[in-house]
Amino acid sequence: MANVKVAVRVRPPSQKEVRTAVPLILDVKEKSIAIRNLKQQRLKFAAPNSSVAEFAFDRCYSSIDPNAPDYASQETLFNELGNQVLDAAFIGFNASLLAYGQTGSGKTYTMVGTPGIFSRIKSECKSSTSYKVEISFLEIYNEQVRDLLAGRVQKRTSALRVREHPKKGPYVQGLSRHVVPTCSHIAELIEQGIANRTTAATYVHDASSRSHAIFTIHFTQANLQENLPCEVISKLNLVDLAGSERADPNFCRTRIMEGANINRSLVTLGNVISALAENSMLSTSCVGSQHVNLWRDNISDTISQAPPATSGYSLSSISGRRSSHPCYVPYRDSVLTRLLKDSLGGNAKTIVLATISPSSSSFSETMSTLRYAARAKSIVNRPRVNEDPNVRIIRELRQEVERLKDLLRNSGPKVLNPPPNNLIEMLHNSDTKDGKTTIGCSQGSVDLDIVLEPPSIEEFHCTVENQAGVVTLIPKPGSMCSINGRPILHPCQMNHGDILVLGENYTFHFNNPVEAKKSRNPPILLQHIQKNPPGFLELSEDSRVIDLSPNR
Ligand code: ADP
Ligand code: MG
Repeated sequence: MANVKVAVRVRPPSQKEVRTAVPLILDVKEKSIAIRNLKQQRLKFAAPNSSVAEFAFDRCYSSIDPNAPDYASQETLFNELGNQVLDAAFIGFNASLLAYGQTGSGKTYTMVGTPGIFSRIKSECKSSTSYKVEISFLEIYNEQVRDLLAGRVQKRTSALRVREHPKKGPYVQGLSRHVVPTCSHIAELIEQGIANRTTAATYVHDASSRSHAIFTIHFTQANLQENLPCEVISKLNLVDLAGSERADPNFCRTRIMEGANINRSLVTLGNVISALAENSMLSTSCVGSQHVNLWRDNISDTISQAPPATSGYSLSSISGRRSSHPCYVPYRDSVLTRLLKDSLGGNAKTIVLATISPSSSSFSETMSTLRYAARAKSIVNRPRVNEDPNVRIIRELRQEVERLKDLLRNSGPKVLNPPPNNLIEMLHNSDTKDGKTTIGCSQGSVDLDIVLEPPSIEEFHCTVENQAGVVTLIPKPGSMCSINGRPILHPCQMNHGDILVLGENYTFHFNNPVEAKKSRNPPILLQHIQKNPPGFLELSEDSRVIDLSPNR
């Protein structure tokens, strides 16, 4: 489990802001941002600190003044945030970097400099691993998904469907994927996609992105592990959201419609973040009503600019209630949140980058963005390495063997074999003892091959002898041994399928290896079927029986 990381970047004042000498209201530190409310400051009877609000984040970047010592350039952001995303991808996690903020606050500016995966591949390249990079680029415009890289194959105007794969998560049906062999190819495709994006002039930004854009890198690493071909596939989502702004009644109908749809998905995104944050707080049960109120204010800010909610999802049901049940998370209320399901609360390591303007003219939007971002910090994701299931099983088995070895080492001196590297070695490297395997409990001083736990197991309990495939149980007088429910007092031959009980707690199923081989079963001599977790007695090629039971 990993919390969503939240970073904030403050852009430099725009030319217009410089020209009109708009005051700057932000004080940016490495991990916090203080914002001044100039209107409140002017009030005569305002309390001394009531005009300043402070927010803490994982990282804050000031790009206000290029000459300042703490100036954060594109390179700084790439080195810190971009590299975190790429590191996660190289390990095999899905990763997402989401830029959120008011129109003209620097989302697109920051995101377009992000991909740099090829330079990393060059530096990280191992000769044993091969890499494949495929990219896709889409926009969500007026709640419809369009392929920005479809070229002439698919008309850019046709909308694509969002579907959900039970294991791989949400995906867009028919979205083109482009294999990119070199770094220059990726840059070319990004430029092509950006040129195809829907932009328009708004009152804050002449070329505002009117759509949400998701640039996805499908990154496959293939190599050999345990002599098995293994693929680790990770998906990197770089998301440039459209900015929200108040609908200007002087704009044409298309612009107002666009704004409504942008706000609808941003409100849904807010609802999703809110529900997830509330759920994670429920599980940690450290909620303060102050947080909830702050967040409710924020949603109200956004909603005041948005059309009436169409989903019937009431605000109070999201942020106002306190219940012991987890909230419903309304992913399906917008295309954007459906596609970002894995990035928010799912299988991905996610960074939210909030971009803001430093000027007083953007006070309310900046406040809203900061509250949004502060809330996103409490979302908990569940990233996992997307590795081959076979390789995972082998690794887990190895870990289990290591655990058993540790148990054996700590449980006393009755371990005869030196700790082998794996089961196959364990079977092949053991000493030959003429097919005789001694079994007893660990308290005695007898040299035993298999040590079982008392009570009801004698110090030297019995011997299992294997001569050319004929296996005989030789009980020590007085020890509790039975085959198929019949007590055994004298040497007795065991047949394929017999149930052997030693003491009161150990029950084994006996497979004759010769017959097992004939029926193509693995050469398991005695399968331990009663103790939990189940264990095995296995027969090595030199006829010794080896106990692999976890709780012997
Ligand atoms: P958004 O995508 O949030 O609507 P843009 O990224 O298009 O905003 O940025 C708006 C304008 O501000 C652009 O002209 C861009 O060059 C400028 N800008 C944004 N952030 C920065 C920055 N950190 N440094 C310099 N210029 C910036
Ligand atoms: Mg933009």
